[in-house]
Amino acid sequence: MKICIAGGGVIGLSCAYYLKKAGFEVIVVDRGNGTNNCSFGNAGYISPSHFIPLASPGIVAQGLKWMLSSTSPFYIKPRLSLDLMRWGWKFYRNATEKTVKHNAPHLNNILQLSRSLMIDMDNNLGGGFELKQDGCFMLCRTEEGFIHEKELARDAASFGLDAPVLSSSEIQAMEPEVKVNVKGGVFFPIDCHVHPVRMMERLYSYLQQQGTDIQFQTEIKGFEKKDGRITALITDKEKIKADEFVVAAGAWLPDVLSMLGVSVLLQSGKGYSTTYVNVVRNIHHPAILVEDRAAMTPLGRDLRIGGTMELSGINHDIKMHRVKPIVRAANTFYPDLHLEVPAPEMVWTGLRPVSPDGLPYIGRPSQWSNVSVAGGHAMLGVSLAAATGHLIRQIIMNEKTDIPIEAFRVER
Ligand SMILES: Cc1cc2nc3c(=O)[nH]c(=O)nc-3n(C[C@H](O)[C@H](O)[C@H](O)COP(=O)(O)OP(=O)(O)OC[C@H]3O[C@@H](n4cnc5c(N)ncnc54)[C@H](O)[C@@H]3O)c2cc1C
Repeated sequence: MKICIAGGGVIGLSCAYYLKKAGFEVIVVDRGNGTNNCSFGNAGYISPSHFIPLASPGIVAQGLKWMLSSTSPFYIKPRLSLDLMRWGWKFYRNATEKTVKHNAPHLNNILQLSRSLMIDMDNNLGGGFELKQDGCFMLCRTEEGFIHEKELARDAASFGLDAPVLSSSEIQAMEPEVKVNVKGGVFFPIDCHVHPVRMMERLYSYLQQQGTDIQFQTEIKGFEKKDGRITALITDKEKIKADEFVVAAGAWLPDVLSMLGVSVLLQSGKGYSTTYVNVVRNIHHPAILVEDRAAMTPLGRDLRIGGTMELSGINHDIKMHRVKPIVRAANTFYPDLHLEVPAPEMVWTGLRPVSPDGLPYIGRPSQWSNVSVAGGHAMLGVSLAAATGHLIRQIIMNEKTDIPIEAFRVER
């Protein structure tokens, strides 16, 4: 059986990995060149700590406050877009205690499954992802932030997650190379991180060695359909016939699915990162700087910092006034890192595929019997990649899935 995967980001490649291992002939189509998409410049977290969906109580009020500042970590570009309005309304409706109570256990299930599968995948690929099981800090510089994170630690305990609340001196003891300037924080020992570029390179090289046909610089233009089934993917180069199709097109998921008459609510959430090479005194653990919504990841001797969520449509414009606060936050939390604001050409940007309820889309759309969707992972694409690939394989092979996937259905 031949399976064609539309999209070669971490989600498409992870699907390819599990399908190839199951013995299928696999072809991946992507219009990029395999060196850049949202899966390269991210923070690399595999984070069971992120079991609270993005749409949660308080986020709307906080978001509106942030909208008033040009340097805040969140921005929605005001524009007349029906999709944005529908997405915004759904997000608003989902940001309730009731929806979070319903969705968090599903997110927790898939995060836990994915963490263990990702460790297996990395082991299977010779440790090529540079995966580290070093945990992750949620660091707070204000009392208010610290109180909020302590509540999160209590919620984590209800999912069986170890999440010790640490004082500033306990955190300092775990970061011997740099000074830490915080009120306190929570540590999630279960979290891991990968080097995203190494992970993507290793996945490409493994899949190619295994005979996966990866077609870069090939644009998806449409699908050939017959009797409720897709018979071929039409690209700008050729028609690719296959038995099964997986759509894993990241922030472009609605565009590619619209070629199949399937509609999903999704907005692209632009974020930035920059990587400092060979940092003399580096942090030992990844950290989320809670009040500033910034993420820091040690990648060997290098240090990546990133953040912001801009809902400004599909564009890769670099807005330095949103990058500077990320650097400022890093220097506030770690005052002797003395990080400089990077030149714009040293800033990476990527588009997160953001669903309005914080859950991914994983499953078959009802109209098509041989299409599966794998997308909408927002800020959790790396965290959820392995489980998504594994579940897509189970769906295609008509197996009972390891976890319930009803909450991730495409038409919801
Ligand atoms: C600053 C930042 C930090 C982040 N940190 C983390 C983190 O620490 N942990 C985590 O889990 N996640 C993180 N994320 C999110 C994560 O990067 C994404 O969720 C993930 O990369 C999405 O993967 P994807 O495969 O769905 O999309 P992508 O990687 O964007 O891949 C989609 C692919 O589809 C292709 N495509 C689309 N349309 C077409 C078409 N018509 N024809 C051909 N090809 C097409 C594109 O070219 C692209 O290569 C972060 C994101 C950002 C921006």
